[in-house]
Amino acid sequence: MKTYSQLTVAERQEEYASLQQRYNDYKALGLKLNMARGKPGVDQLRLSAPMLHILDVDDCIVDGIDARNYGELAGLPCAKNLFAELLGTKPEEILVGGNASLTLMYDLMAKAMTHGLLHSPRPWSQEPVVKFLCPSPGYDRHFKISESFGMELITIPMTATGPDMDAVEEAVKDPTVKGMWCVPKYSNPDGILYSEETIDRIANLKPAAPDFALMWDNAYCVHEIYGEFRPFRDILTLCREAGNPHMVYEFASTSKITFPGAGVAVMAASVENQKYIESLLTYQSISYDKLNQLRHVRFLKNKETVLALMQEHAKILRPRFSAVLDALDKEIAPLEIAQWTKPMGGYFVSFNAMEGTAKRALALCKEAGVVMTGAGATFPYGKDPKDSNIRIAPSLPPVEELKQAMDIFCICVRMAALEKLGL
Ligand code: PMP
Repeated sequence: MKTYSQLTVAERQEEYASLQQRYNDYKALGLKLNMARGKPGVDQLRLSAPMLHILDVDDCIVDGIDARNYGELAGLPCAKNLFAELLGTKPEEILVGGNASLTLMYDLMAKAMTHGLLHSPRPWSQEPVVKFLCPSPGYDRHFKISESFGMELITIPMTATGPDMDAVEEAVKDPTVKGMWCVPKYSNPDGILYSEETIDRIANLKPAAPDFALMWDNAYCVHEIYGEFRPFRDILTLCREAGNPHMVYEFASTSKITFPGAGVAVMAASVENQKYIESLLTYQSISYDKLNQLRHVRFLKNKETVLALMQEHAKILRPRFSAVLDALDKEIAPLEIAQWTKPMGGYFVSFNAMEGTAKRALALCKEAGVVMTGAGATFPYGKDPKDSNIRIAPSLPPVEELKQAMDIFCICVRMAALEKLGL
């Protein structure tokens, strides 16, 4: 089989015509398929069904605290213990929040803007310019949080071992650079595990800004798809040892352990940071939802049981990831028009189409009823300079639908590549 660049114009035209035929047949079916967001499938949600019945009226008092009532703004001690065990931090470094880690991240950025962080000379809103480092491709919602507060987004290239640390070390010499977004384990969308060296270099950064915020989003900390749990080092300890105890804010949630949107989120940070943040939070809320915290503690129990549950998730996810990867291997690999990741965990396959074709491929997909995350979303300001990266989210559709969606996706990627090569 010839690669696409080896085809003559006449051969490309012939290939395009046959793809167009298949494309039109699919279009006529009026399908509605969605590979846009990393939502767990319904069979994954069922794994946590027992949690809905786990609390009894007489069973809401724990460690002398009535979870039904106001109080314990930083979270139930038993919930702090559970998340400290999962993240490898100390319980006193944990704030157990509400239903979404994104809310905690947004809230921290909002507080930085309005009040400043622990070591801010002034609130960020009073700075002439605030810049934020965005390793890209990255998580669109991180970038949007910074953008929504008027921060300037600085693209940092992603490498196979995490953010390009030469670029990061250079960038943090600028005192207007106030922080960086990181997803250290199974990064969104590339599924990269930051290397030990990268993590050490991050912990040892010497930012010019005294209030530099390392936004360490450990969203996929226990989310293996293939193989056993891969341990990770505690970033709070590493930063403390490097003389940066207050630089890091670590986030995680049970969104993809139990119920997205109805889980429990946490922020880990130094005790001094926790005290400072709680002093601001106290005007915002009397307490988060401790009943949900207690439900989670009763259901998830400890790290061992969480890891066992994650293996059940993995069993459900594996056939979906295989459906995506098999389709790409079969339909795209021989043509040499794209590269993609084969992640060991997380929620995404990161696909790099032939440069200048991602937007067109996704427009074709949309017309045929396949919805994907918009092209460019994984870059600051939604602009992929190469118009190449596409994030594939295999978790939601049932495998049969996924196979159909991938068939259409591959057709569209091929059509867009042929158009680019010239017909
Ligand atoms: N962080 C990352 C890296 C994610 O991929 C996601 C979900 N797609 C979230 C955070 C959202 O987490 P939560 O539901 O806790 O807000």
